[in-house]
Formats: sequence, C-alpha cells, structure tokens
Amino acid sequence: MEMKKKALFIDRDGTIIVEPADEQIDSLAKLEFLPGAIGALRQLAVERDYELVMVTNQDGLGTDSFPEANFWPAHEKMLKILAGEGIHFAAIYIDKTFAHEQAPTRKPGTAMLTDYLGGEYDLAQSYVIGDRITDVQLGANLGCPSILLGGLQDDRAVLCTNDWQAIQQLLSANARKSVEIPHLDRVGVVERSTKETDIRVVLNIDGDGRGEIVTGIGFFDHLLDQLVKHSGCDLQLRVQGDLHIDEHHSIEDTALALGQAYAQALGDKYGIARYGHFALPMDEALAEVALDFSGRPWLVWQAEYHRERVGGMPTEMFHHFFKSFSDTAKCNLNIRVKGQNDHHQIEATFKAFAKAIKMAVQRQPGQGIPSTKGVL
Ligand SMILES: [Mg+2]
Repeated sequence: MEMKKKALFIDRDGTIIVEPADEQIDSLAKLEFLPGAIGALRQLAVERDYELVMVTNQDGLGTDSFPEANFWPAHEKMLKILAGEGIHFAAIYIDKTFAHEQAPTRKPGTAMLTDYLGGEYDLAQSYVIGDRITDVQLGANLGCPSILLGGLQDDRAVLCTNDWQAIQQLLSANARKSVEIPHLDRVGVVERSTKETDIRVVLNIDGDGRGEIVTGIGFFDHLLDQLVKHSGCDLQLRVQGDLHIDEHHSIEDTALALGQAYAQALGDKYGIARYGHFALPMDEALAEVALDFSGRPWLVWQAEYHRERVGGMPTEMFHHFFKSFSDTAKCNLNIRVKGQNDHHQIEATFKAFAKAIKMAVQRQPGQGIPSTKGVL
C-alpha cells in the first residue's frame, strides 16, 4: 500500500519565533524562539515522518513599511539555527501582501499550497500549527486539523495550548517513522573488541536470509546459518577470537554482540509482535523455544547433552550462548529440548530459536509499543 505523505503547515511568527508588538521581525535583535519550539520541532523532524512546511504572512514585505533587507537576515539566522538542530523545512511559503488586498495567497487562503491538494498528501493526518484564528481557518480550508498556540481559543482546533511539548505529544502518537514508512529495514551494527575477541556484526532483521558468517568454529557457523535461514535476517559476522585458548570467549562474545545487534535493530520495539513461540522436531529430537523481547533478560534452559562436544563446540557452551544473548538482547528465552542425538538437539534448538525470533520481530502496524506500560 502506498503511504501518503503527511505535512505540518507551520506558521512562523508567534509560533516558532516570538512575535513582537509591532508584528515585524526586522532585525536580529528581535529574533527569539518560543520556549520549547526547537526541541519539539527537532523531535518531530527527526523521529516522525512529517514534512515540515512553513507558511507565513509577512504584511507588506518588500514595501517601504517592511524592506526585504530588514527581513532576510533574521529569517536566515532562524533557519540556520533550526537546521543545526536537524530541523529542515521542505518548503517555505511567504505571502507579502497586506490583509486589505484579500489575496488568495494570503492565509487563510490556500493559493500557495496547491501542491498539497492533489492527493499526494494525507491531509486528514497533516496539521496546521499557528497562533491566529486565520491559521485555524487555513486548516479548515486545507482539510487539515489545526493546533492553536499562544492563548487564543477556537473550537475547530484539535488542541489550543501554550506548550510546544503538548503539541509534540499529540503529533508523536500520530506518525512514527519506523512503522509508517514501509520496508524500512531494521539494522544493528555492533563492533566489539576485547583482549579475547574482535567481533563485527551487521544484522538486518528485515533481510532475505543471507549470511556471511566466519567465527572460526565450523559447527558454530553452521548453527548461525540456521538462525539466518529460518529467521530471514541478513547477518554478516566476523569473529577473530582466542581459539588457541579455547572456544569459550568466541562463543560467549558472539552471543553478546548478536544480542546487542538485535536490541539495536529493534529500537523501542514500536509495532512489533514482541512474542514468539516455536516447536520443531529433528528426527528423534524436539526443541521448543518461547521468546519475549520484554526488555528483561531471562533464560529458562531445559536440555541435557550426552556428549562433551558437538563439532568444535563444547555442549556446555550452548546454555552460555543463549544466556549471553538474552542478557544483551534483553529478552526472555524459555528453551526446552529432548532427544538422544546431541547434534539433532542443538540444531533443532537453533532452528526453533530462529522461528521464534521471526515471529516476535514481525511488524504489526497500528499496535504501537506492545506493552500496557507504553515502554519495553
Ligand atoms: Mg503567527
């Protein structure tokens, strides 16, 4: 489904910067931001998928009453300060007429804003933000809800407030980048370097099942290939460990780095399923993995091995791998496996682990953060 764009049509004077009594910001000395405006705009610009559009009436700009040379230095200084905070306007519309001219370009007229009226924008999910009744009227004319700042009241506005933080909260609930933009990949990149190991992980949860895995331990590579194949992630993993001592550090640190990459890729876990549960057999063995990206590490481990090693891996390290993963991914892992053949047992466990991850990281648009606490 094609997502329509969303815009915030933001007034300038009295909304982003303080409007002086003479209603003209015609010198640098008059440039002053409204409290909270920069912080709120920064959050909306960087973390949400609104396009920022400035729409401002500058009465008589370019006439003797308001020469352009007095307008631009303060305007450009304002834009520079905002840009330094990551706040960029996709477009800026300045109407220079006086009210008595009744120009169709002057707010609340929409003649400058025809680009937004052709169906490319979801106007019901866009907003006008301003400090005058004409801003609310602009919203009505565009078909957008409006937010009125600065003390006036108007029943047509969805919010009348003096507080930019209240605006940010209202709009944050509305448009979240990670879910609203389709196919935005969730990626974690971790480099971990100690005296014992050097590890680089590049994980794309939304991959195609492509793995490039070199840990130095053949059987470990084989197990991680199962994770890639059955969870559908892309994983580049390079491990240079102190294998001349033993496999312990390489396995443990790989699990720590991998868990960290998952935590990073999932971010605040907005819109994910959170839980996964999978059981699968491999010949005589049966493995069951239940997983919760709860934000709290926990491992329940019910497995018994008959041999000391499988391939190049000590079987005692299987528990350690999942414990370390749960510590850094901050997930609850509940793992049970039964079987006679240790190779079957551990391979089935990795496959069930992969399938449980695949379920838990699925996007479920519209559900928000999957916790009644609102945070995970
Ligand atoms: Mg204004």
